[in-house]
Amino acid sequence: MREIRLHNTLTNRLELLEPLHEGEVRIYTCGPTVYDFAHIGNFRTFVFQDVLRRFLHASGYRVLQVMNLTDVDDRIIQNAAAAGISIREYTEKYIQAFIDDTKSLSLETPEEIVRATDHIDDMVDLIERLQKKGFTYSREGSIYYSIAKFPAYGRLSKIDVAGIQAGVRVDADRYEKADARDFALWKAPKPGEHFWETRIGAGRPGWHVECSAMSMKYLGDTIDVHSGGVDLAFPHHENEIAQSEGATGKTFVRLWLHAEHLIVEGEKMSKSLGNFFTLRDLFAKGQKPSTIRFLLLSVPYRRQLNFTPDSLKQAESSVERLRNFFARLKEEKLPAGSKVEMQKRATKAEADFDLGLADDLNTAVALAAVFDLVRDANTAMDRGELRQQDATRLVASMEKFDGILAVLTDDDAEKTRNLGFGAAEARMTADQIEALMEERNVARRRRDFKRSDEIRQQLTDSGIIVEDTRDGNVRWKYK
Ligand code: AMP
Ligand code: ZN
Repeated sequence: MREIRLHNTLTNRLELLEPLHEGEVRIYTCGPTVYDFAHIGNFRTFVFQDVLRRFLHASGYRVLQVMNLTDVDDRIIQNAAAAGISIREYTEKYIQAFIDDTKSLSLETPEEIVRATDHIDDMVDLIERLQKKGFTYSREGSIYYSIAKFPAYGRLSKIDVAGIQAGVRVDADRYEKADARDFALWKAPKPGEHFWETRIGAGRPGWHVECSAMSMKYLGDTIDVHSGGVDLAFPHHENEIAQSEGATGKTFVRLWLHAEHLIVEGEKMSKSLGNFFTLRDLFAKGQKPSTIRFLLLSVPYRRQLNFTPDSLKQAESSVERLRNFFARLKEEKLPAGSKVEMQKRATKAEADFDLGLADDLNTAVALAAVFDLVRDANTAMDRGELRQQDATRLVASMEKFDGILAVLTDDDAEKTRNLGFGAAEARMTADQIEALMEERNVARRRRDFKRSDEIRQQLTDSGIIVEDTRDGNVRWKYK
């Protein structure tokens, strides 16, 4: 089995991957929060994880990867309540959209995709274990993790917790390093919010506890790799370590991998900044799935990826170059036989490709090996120096590369067509819908029925059903 080195955020060093179970790498991947469509920043991280698993397979390992879907959090609860539908109904569409998106980007499906709301009991068990060991305390129906009880707190994200006052709490799932606090494992229900009735009381889990519970349930107390984007290192992963290691007393994760962000004009692409594109946005503008996949994998995962129109153009022409070369190899009428140099050239390119990826998934080095080979082989063909057996060998090399790159097959049109939930519908967030509904109410009060009908039609066209209830209220839901 090939030796692979990966950068561990915990030690800030490249480390040799040494799976705990012979020949099998167990990976936990923090999946999307399904309150909306994922954007291509999110997919930067998911594509890196796909490259990892494909390379592990190509290197002779078995892979057991679990990805969670965060289908309960502050925003989901709010949006579902605003839409008057259950959490399940609200998240269902976004889960399906995410799965469709991953297919359009040729992401391999993890062995297990698990939902947080299917694991409330496991989270309750874990919280009880932490309670018994004295890591927690309760306030007004919520249960908090006391970070002062876990001396290793801060080790992953390198924050200094010395000055943090014990007992200062934070309820939000997401917060900044400067706000390191005791965090909520279990949150008491707020009026009108969805909650679960459990042994530890009524309420709902905090975000962090879901990943600890599900990782340990499916993969064991200690796993090989846990990965996500850099924004997850704090507080999410720091809190996961505190929860899991607090409960088991064992190492939770041997290698922590974090992908740097995809950025736009110097800022992280994110929902809250509004500077994001979903895949559907880009497809609607005529971009191809293969272009996006290639762009997202072309920059090594620990470097920021600057998303620009130019980078899209370059990615598209790179994919075309690979496809044209591949087609040419198969179509060109070549003299029989082979030449030693070209066979050697292919062997070297394959070795360089693997060496690049084995060095912390350096896709830039791997791609340089591919494109150097393409250039040399094209030149040889131009000069009439390529032989039939060389072409056969080069086809095999390209197929091997494509086991990781997954862009050679020209199925872009099909992949875009297969996306169910359309692009127009895609952009209507709960906030936008609420705003339109409010505008419609105002129009109705003015008895401007033309305008109110127009708004209703606009919502219908976007896949939103508007219902006027008997008590004079208006509700909406996704079709
Ligand atoms: P979320 O749905 O926010 O939990 O994010 C899903 C995944 O996308 C996580 O691993 C995040 O760290 C990652 N992510 C979010 N924004 C970006 C970005 N701009 N670039 C790369 N990864 C991101
Ligand atoms: Zn997670």
